[in-house]
Amino acid sequence: MTTAAPPLNPPIRTLLGPGPSDIHPRVLQAIGKNTVGHLDPYYLQLMDHMQAMLRDLFRTTNRMTMAISATGSAGMEATVVNLIEPGDPMLVCVNGVFGTRMADVAGRAGAEVTTVERPWGEVFTTKDLKEALAKTKPKVVGIVMAETSTGAWQPLEEISELVHDAGALLLVDAVTSLGGVAVEVDKWNIDAIYSGSQKCLSCPPGLAPVSFNDRALEVIRDRKTKVQSWYLDVSMLADYWGTDRVYHHTAPINMSYALYEAVQIIHEEGLDAAFARHFQNHVALKAGLAALGIEYTAQDGHQLPMLNAVRIPAGVDDARLRGALLSRFGIEIGGGLGAFKGKVWRIGLMGYGSRSANVLLFLAALEQLLAEQGYNFDHGASIAAATDHYRGAVSGDS
Ligand SMILES: *Cc1c(COP(=O)(O)O)cnc(C)c1O
Repeated sequence: MTTAAPPLNPPIRTLLGPGPSDIHPRVLQAIGKNTVGHLDPYYLQLMDHMQAMLRDLFRTTNRMTMAISATGSAGMEATVVNLIEPGDPMLVCVNGVFGTRMADVAGRAGAEVTTVERPWGEVFTTKDLKEALAKTKPKVVGIVMAETSTGAWQPLEEISELVHDAGALLLVDAVTSLGGVAVEVDKWNIDAIYSGSQKCLSCPPGLAPVSFNDRALEVIRDRKTKVQSWYLDVSMLADYWGTDRVYHHTAPINMSYALYEAVQIIHEEGLDAAFARHFQNHVALKAGLAALGIEYTAQDGHQLPMLNAVRIPAGVDDARLRGALLSRFGIEIGGGLGAFKGKVWRIGLMGYGSRSANVLLFLAALEQLLAEQGYNFDHGASIAAATDHYRGAVSGDS
């Protein structure tokens, strides 16, 4: 007996949410290339090149730089469970959903977790951490660089200095920041860091680039207990990614092709050019939204270019607008999470999705749907503001 399931026919969307982001056609093609074995000489060579490209992306020389075979949250788990042994004190900075998740992950790994908190949309300064560092003497401090739930962009340099002065390791969530803004692992002295494939790398979800410096590896080597997770044990993964090439798990070969191509596309453009493009499209979008009276949730000076979290104007029906945006224009944006549910839109301009065509399409569609809901604004003003920016700026396209 067969069940008559419909044929696979996913609609074409413009993905302008918090991830997954729009995928470059070359990346989709890469997934369909010939599958080889995970110990095939071709694949092993590819892993070496992948590691080198990921090091460039993270701006690090860390030997232990690789991709975990799972999504960004597994990158979070991998960094936490390898550094933490049961009873270890860990300090987690919480100003949104992903800091909250990191604290949960750390608690499950047996850490004695302390959190420092800031209101959603704000970032941490060294002042916020000083007291907690002195009081709890953490082994690890975890912080989110790009808080996707609020659009806040966390500076890391000074915090890193403070954390190391206190004798702790710095663990950074770069899931949304990597590829969109500068992430300087070596310069900022970040001990462990993770990202995800489906945000600014514009690859489907399924891989999590991670990097550990030598200080972190020493801590891992000196563990008294086994890493709680077999799958995410970095020392075992090192035997596969390193020169021994010992089978650990069957690597997701074709997903690796996708990430390989995605990272190569970024390096072809140049990292700094990619950051500039993200910034230009963000400024154009922001000018357009300002012309409609729509404001950002994140604190001034700390707004992420790839994740524009804005307040839904009073009187506008969130579900109705986002529903129409998807069904009539094929555009996906994100709603608010947690405390921001129903109050905030999250407009992603990530990776390949960060293009002037998407900014102008989105603003035009938004104007039409706002007008249908009786929202009062100067028609065409957002497009004019955005194109004014593009006329004055360097090209916003790759
Ligand atoms: C998306 C995201 C994650 C989780 O990644 P998944 O791929 O969904 O598991 C973690 N942290 C941040 C900041 C994110 O934006």
